[in-house]
Amino acid sequence: MVDYKKIGLKIGIEIHQRLATKTKLFCNCSTEISDEEKSIFEFSRKLRPTASETGEVDNAAMQEFLKEKEFIYYSYPNCCSIETDSKFPNELNKEALLISLQLAKMLRMRVPDSLQIMRKIVIDGSNTTGYQRTSLVGKGDKNSYIETNFGKVHIQDLNLEEESATKIKEKENRIYYRLDRLGIPLIELSCHPDIWHPEQAKEFASKIGLLLRSLNVKRGIGTIRQDVNISVKKGSRIEIKGFQELKKLDKLIKNEVKRQLDLILVKEKLKNKSINLTEIEVTKLFKSSKCKILKGKEKILCLKLKGLSGLFKNSCGEIILGKEIANYAKIFGIGGIIHSDEDLKKYNFDLKEIYSLKKEIGAKERDLFLLITGENCGNAMNLIKKRILHLNKGIPEETRFAEDVLTRYARELPGAARMYPETDLPKIDLNEYLDKIELPETLEEKSAKFLKLGLSKDLAKQISKSKELKLFEEFLKYKVEPKLIADLILNKKRALERKGIKIEKKDLEFVLKNLEKEKIVKKAIEEVLINKNIKGFEKIPRIKLKKITVNYAKKYGEKAMGEIMKKYGKRVDSEEVIKLLNQ
Ligand SMILES: [Zn+2]
Repeated sequence: MVDYKKIGLKIGIEIHQRLATKTKLFCNCSTEISDEEKSIFEFSRKLRPTASETGEVDNAAMQEFLKEKEFIYYSYPNCCSIETDSKFPNELNKEALLISLQLAKMLRMRVPDSLQIMRKIVIDGSNTTGYQRTSLVGKGDKNSYIETNFGKVHIQDLNLEEESATKIKEKENRIYYRLDRLGIPLIELSCHPDIWHPEQAKEFASKIGLLLRSLNVKRGIGTIRQDVNISVKKGSRIEIKGFQELKKLDKLIKNEVKRQLDLILVKEKLKNKSINLTEIEVTKLFKSSKCKILKGKEKILCLKLKGLSGLFKNSCGEIILGKEIANYAKIFGIGGIIHSDEDLKKYNFDLKEIYSLKKEIGAKERDLFLLITGENCGNAMNLIKKRILHLNKGIPEETRFAEDVLTRYARELPGAARMYPETDLPKIDLNEYLDKIELPETLEEKSAKFLKLGLSKDLAKQISKSKELKLFEEFLKYKVEPKLIADLILNKKRALERKGIKIEKKDLEFVLKNLEKEKIVKKAIEEVLINKNIKGFEKIPRIKLKKITVNYAKKYGEKAMGEIMKKYGKRVDSEEVIKLLNQ
């Protein structure tokens, strides 16, 4: 067991939540994303980093640029010339502003007098402009916190920003994006690094998640994601981007902690050693190699690490160090590296090849070497060398991608030179909006309200946490028992959909209207949902039912009830039958 207090674990989380506004943040396009594959048109761009106000070019931005990428964008019906960056943005969406102000108020944050829209440089292509528009809506103070079982977690900043484009694929130097998601309002909420335990991180994120759900936010896969900053004593700040599976957040953190602790061990081992690297091009040696990865490649580079044989076998979290280093090459589109700490037999080398390679690079028994090939192997090698030279210094600060519950290198940490004011849009006076803000009911409050409407405790809790909550609240307008509505949405609909029967909103409304007008009874709900028609399931009118009960009572005596239900089960209400029989 890791003693998280002792290792000085510090975690900060940034939560990104998409808002369910009608339109996007700076244009009138819908925020609904369709599953449409086919785009309306496409175009390509190359982006260049520009110096910020302070004259520096951001490191991370520069690194992206060096990858010489071309970006291809696909446009969809919910995109206009604002997403394609050929028109000035409209003014900021007030519906989105009000939602973000609601959250600021719920978290007892300080709201600035005016809203200044800023441009945050992003040149990974996820934005056609080369920047993301963002604005500070709330600042946390000592009263802005979430209580957890491990102590308070203070809220830092709340920003309202535009969602990025969706990356579809990456091929050679081209990255492909869909533009339909670009510009959807997004809330970015960050906390102070008060979190010191993986379970606490999960508790905090789920509490914020619940709070967000009481606001008008999008639900479902990808609509909420977390960036997690993790560091341990003697380590450095690592930022993990875009984690989506809240249930596994503790696992992700535990793995990252292990990786950092392992890297600290590697550092201790190398403490008194100098790292001596030699790079040599060895392309010609593998012209007709039996190793498919290297055979006839245009460029193959070799790196010799003097006296460091065995280094790559050290563990680095859940993987070995060799694999961790190889992951740095991946950002240049290179699949991996070959190194002498692994079993070289699996690559089908000729023994002679290895011999002449060792001779060429002057490798001794205790030296470690690695090979790399690919279009961008020069850049990849530079990054790998930089990373290896850092091994005896500790953990480099960096941004990493989450891959399930593991992480891999993404890019350098962005510097502070990322923001400058948006000049196309005016400041917004926030004081006039603040008075208009009404706090929404929290999910606990909603759940208590549903309990009063006759739902069971479980059902009330279930529906208030469900993504069908909005639908349920809308359907309360029907004069139908609320618990029946909840059951219809949560259980009946899902059960049928599991059987492959598609149930749309209008089908549910059809059932509810018929229940309201007493044209069908509860027991017929499922059939009516399937048939989308009440034929054969119409409720038997009371006068007719009365006659039936009189006749059946005469004929069957004690067994009348059973017989009636056998014949008219889905067309009569059993309580009504009992009443009539008892008359
Ligand atoms: Zn638009």
